[in-house]
Amino acid sequence: MEKIVSLCKRRGFIFPDSEIYGGLANAWDYGPYGVELKNNIKQRWWKKFVQEREDMVGQDAAIIMNPETWKASGHLDNFSDPLVECKKCKNRFRADQLEEAGKCPNCGGQMSAPRQFNLMFKTFIGPAEESVNIAYLRPETAQGIFVNFKNIMDTMRPRLPFGIGQIGKAFRNEITPGNFIFRTREFEQMEIEYFIAPPKKDKDWQTAFEMWRKEMLNWMAELGLNVKHDVYELNVPDGERAHYSKKTIDFEYQFPFGRKELYGLAYRTDYDLKQHAKFSGADLFCTDEQGDKFVPHVIEPSLGVERTVLAVLYAAYCEETTPAPNPSPAHSSREKGEENIRTVMKFPYWLAPVKIAVFPLLKNKPELVKKAKAVFNQLKSEYNCEFDDNGNIGKRYRRQDEIGTPFCLTVDFDTLEKGDVTVRNRDTMKQERVKIEKLGEWFGKKLK
Ligand code: ATP
Repeated sequence: MEKIVSLCKRRGFIFPDSEIYGGLANAWDYGPYGVELKNNIKQRWWKKFVQEREDMVGQDAAIIMNPETWKASGHLDNFSDPLVECKKCKNRFRADQLEEAGKCPNCGGQMSAPRQFNLMFKTFIGPAEESVNIAYLRPETAQGIFVNFKNIMDTMRPRLPFGIGQIGKAFRNEITPGNFIFRTREFEQMEIEYFIAPPKKDKDWQTAFEMWRKEMLNWMAELGLNVKHDVYELNVPDGERAHYSKKTIDFEYQFPFGRKELYGLAYRTDYDLKQHAKFSGADLFCTDEQGDKFVPHVIEPSLGVERTVLAVLYAAYCEETTPAPNPSPAHSSREKGEENIRTVMKFPYWLAPVKIAVFPLLKNKPELVKKAKAVFNQLKSEYNCEFDDNGNIGKRYRRQDEIGTPFCLTVDFDTLEKGDVTVRNRDTMKQERVKIEKLGEWFGKKLK
């Protein structure tokens, strides 16, 4: 884990938040490559689950919603974790996450009795900090979908089953955030509420549930996760599920700090829509062919963006021993093996923050730089490319390997004569010459 955190900082993926002020515990900022990686995840999710499906539409609701929403959804009453405090060192923990019940993991002291701690972030709307102005930052994106159910029905007239997808920030005042970006107080979710007709028998909702279970497993495979070995499906037992859920599967991933929840899939029944109909008085019914009204039920695949980033970083991280370079007298003092470890992020190509790095062989040869710039300009509108003329080629390769760039392209003296360039593959490290006029087609085949 330390290696990943350090690579993220060193290579511009993820920085501690407000670092110049000493940081803010468990808050993180995304740097140039981190934001590309995160955007690639979100864009692909949107395309796959919203745009490419005929039974899905998208939306984007506000973060601060009418506080009645949270009364109706049950979050004000139920969205809490059991908090315990050490009587000796005063540190606070989530009771259900303690390795040994009643014992402080910090000093071994005795714990207080648990009390329920509500995770909702409170704020005030407008200048007066009065109770009538209390509002909340949403703890999940889901409710933004339920409150728009009627709008979507009225404007899009979808037929059941259909789903609404949304990507956006969520906030939880977690008792024990930590493990880098795994558990933070501000995070992003990619959520789907998939509406189905009220099931006449269990099989009716189980079919939709199973369809989304498979979709989620496919998505994890697409991310480059080893689904067979590193993903575990936990059927959350009665009594441990959220208040609205009749069935939940937690997709747990083998993170460096243990097997923990990556995503959730829940059958939320008709709980939310019924609650909102009751509290708002709005007509949140559908009408069947016989003219009978009913409230749809809902299957919810819920995916955290940051946990996806962390799983992907962990899955992609590789250290390889490369053959030792021929020892030369100038290097004879080099420690054995020191230079031979190659760190490479083996992201699936579609996830890689930079797809192609373009190098002039030498930075002080204007004709090479000019040609390399021309190649860079030719490719940059199609792919996220990076121009690099710093240091020797070996160092440039090493840097690109660490950010997971699939291809490095070098313009050398032969390029000026023959019009071809060297393209080096991140994973095989093999190099081949490709004609400049064929680059579009060549990369098209490899990267699309
Ligand atoms: P946990 O048991 O880890 O607290 P949860 O079961 O409360 O998670 P859900 O309410 O099911 O989580 O939220 C859906 C998804 O949102 C999670 O599977 C996870 O990917 C993400 N998520 C939830 N809480 C956090 C958090 N504090 N930081 C980052 N991601 C989170």
